[in-house]
Amino acid sequence: MSEIKLSKKHGFNPSIPVCFWCGKEKNEIALFGELPKDKEAPMKAVYDYTPCRECQKKMAQGILVIEAVLGTEAVKLGNPPIDKLGSVPTGRWLVMTRQYFEDNVDDEDLKQRILKAGKTLMDPATFTQIVEQAKSLQNSKVSLD
Ligand SMILES: [Zn+2]
Repeated sequence: MSEIKLSKKHGFNPSIPVCFWCGKEKNEIALFGELPKDKEAPMKAVYDYTPCRECQKKMAQGILVIEAVLGTEAVKLGNPPIDKLGSVPTGRWLVMTRQYFEDNVDDEDLKQRILKAGKTLMDPATFTQIVEQAKSLQNSKVSLD
């Protein structure tokens, strides 16, 4: 851990990181010490897209599908981009079986890339469609947060 400069007003200036994906507090504490203008760190905040352990476990069960937006919608959300294209996750995500992608993606190249990565970004329209479709399929294991 790097050394931190203590704040005169706020000491270690601690903050509880919150998981972006489930909104729950992570089991850790961030120490900011002296921030610019000696500001007080927020009591809780989302600091990055690293999932908490619980979310990590869920995400590892299949293919992670992340709803994301681009362009002006991404700017409106105000969150940092999650990829080089500037996609910003909305916070909706789900985990689907690999089999679902085997059966439902016609583009072989795309299918292989998704299966290899273990995750994919999806626009809201397709995301909503896939949620509805998955809900109606008994065999698909879906956990929507
Ligand atoms: Zn989480």
